[in-house]
Amino acid sequence: MGGARQWRGARLTNFPRRGRPAPRPIGILGGTFDPVHVGHLRAAIELKSALDLAEVRLIPARLPPHRPQPRAGAEHRLAMLQRAVRGVAGLRVDARELSRAGPSYTVDTLGELRQELGQRPICLLLGADAFAGLTGWHRWQALFELAHLVVMQRPLSAGQAAPPLPAKLAQAIGGRLADSARALRGSCAGVVWRQALPPLDISATRVRALLGAGESARFLVADSCLRYIRHHRLYID
Ligand code: ATP
Repeated sequence: MGGARQWRGARLTNFPRRGRPAPRPIGILGGTFDPVHVGHLRAAIELKSALDLAEVRLIPARLPPHRPQPRAGAEHRLAMLQRAVRGVAGLRVDARELSRAGPSYTVDTLGELRQELGQRPICLLLGADAFAGLTGWHRWQALFELAHLVVMQRPLSAGQAAPPLPAKLAQAIGGRLADSARALRGSCAGVVWRQALPPLDISATRVRALLGAGESARFLVADSCLRYIRHHRLYID
């Protein structure tokens, strides 16, 4: 919490500064990862490449404040994430929210990262579904001061309509929408960029449903995670 507060109102640099190349942004993908699936991993890899990110950090939430609590414990979700990214260049697990007491507020995480990363651009990577609910997040307006927001267009299931953006959110992003991804390197926070991704209609909800019904989740979840799930008998109803 302290990090976000201290950073508030601080001057954010515009890039490029004379003679210095703009630093490559860091991508942040938060979630419950209950369990991590290939939709998360492909999105992270695609965004890293499309936006030339220095790395993508996957940050599991301990106590997600905006949704039902995860089925698997934090240590299991972390262990599965670590197995899933092992040996994958540019993806890294950051376990900071698991050691913080209380709800896992993104604004606190970004505040800490901002302190650590100085003026480097930070891109908060969000599925369109998560973005549509942003106004319910703790101190959501402060997020724009700490990071850019990259909204991944996620496929909709048949018959499902795109959730309308709440008026407050539409208003907040009005002057922030970028017309090129290059804007993400022109400053360290405050831009909103919508990135289309090759659609992978996979969710942890569906993975849990398959596992709960005793069906296969192969090729939706990394084999190393499936072995872990079987070994620890997770997601069995
Ligand atoms: P659940 O089904 O339990 O709600 P989930 O599959 O949405 O879980 P989360 O851990 O809640 O997974 O998601 C973390 C982030 O990853 C969110 O911003 C979410 O929108 C995004 N995300 C999840 N699945 C995909 C996917 N298939 N493609 C793109 N983004 C995704």
